Amino acid sequence: MNLLKELKGSMTIGISGHTKPDGDCVGSVMGMYLYLKKAMPSATVIPMIEKPGEEFNCIANLEDIKTDFNPGIEVFDTYIGLDCSTEDRYGDALPYFQNAKKRIVIDHHISNEGFGDASYIDGQASSTCELVYDLLEDKYMDIEIAKALYIGIIHDTGVLQYSCTSPKTLNIVAKLIEYGFDFPKIIDETFYEKTKLQNEMLGRALVESITFADGKCIVSKIDRKIMDFYGATPHEFEGIVNQLRYTKGVEVAIFMYEIDNMEYKVSLRSRGLVDVAKIAKFYNGGGHQRAAGFTIKGTFHDCVNNISDSIMIQMSK
Ligand code: 5GP
Ligand code: MN
Repeated sequence: MNLLKELKGSMTIGISGHTKPDGDCVGSVMGMYLYLKKAMPSATVIPMIEKPGEEFNCIANLEDIKTDFNPGIEVFDTYIGLDCSTEDRYGDALPYFQNAKKRIVIDHHISNEGFGDASYIDGQASSTCELVYDLLEDKYMDIEIAKALYIGIIHDTGVLQYSCTSPKTLNIVAKLIEYGFDFPKIIDETFYEKTKLQNEMLGRALVESITFADGKCIVSKIDRKIMDFYGATPHEFEGIVNQLRYTKGVEVAIFMYEIDNMEYKVSLRSRGLVDVAKIAKFYNGGGHQRAAGFTIKGTFHDCVNNISDSIMIQMSK
């Protein structure tokens, strides 16, 4: 895809990612935004996502993000959707995407079937930021764009560790860090650093975790009562499922939190034996082979029973 060609003539451009934006979502939306502001100075470009976590405050012009989903433009010439495998992941930004004269989809979810008018999708890419990088012309690149894209790559690869990290990913990272930002500080402050409350939630989830299937699966949950007591939001739970996955002998980690009475948001992580994207898809969610998620209704025990059945089917093959 030639991005600037696709955008030729567009005077109003909206950019969005998924609800509960993670590092790759914030990084790709802001990288794209900062780039288009430079490459297309006469266009009105509006980034629209939910308020990013404070750890992302190091990204330039974060205050330009429209978080109230009332951008003052009803029909955009072009709307760019990033890091979303399906339309429903846009949340409140969906009507703007649907109403736009032209819709561009850029994503690295293998399940993405390319629902835009133009799309750039690669299920092998580490992150949406990696794909955004592919589309940018060097002459408009700068340190702030590089930093935003770097953050997304770092987050979706678990600091260049997960199997989605390719030689291409590392080549891009090499080019990005040449811009000279303080990358160890960025990794510490956006990825590893946790608030006291986040650590408390992590501690709780680890203490309460249960293993099954001979220790190959681990599950933990945080319910509404605990969330209300601590004043914890989903933002506090980031990273918990990864920590569960590090338990010796575990193939699949499951973390659940209650979003409503008898309704859970589920995060799955796999070491490779089980394709958790398949399981998430079965429950109308999505994701990648080793990291996926979905929403499920029922009591905690019923939900775990159902999910464990799905895991067992794959494990017994
Ligand atoms: P996480 O567990 O960190 O929330 O998400 C892991 C991966 O699964 C991410 O790529 C995320 O986009 C995807 N994912 C998580 N929840 C959902 C969901 O409800 N629907 C879809 N389509 N994808 C999800
Ligand atoms: Mn991503």
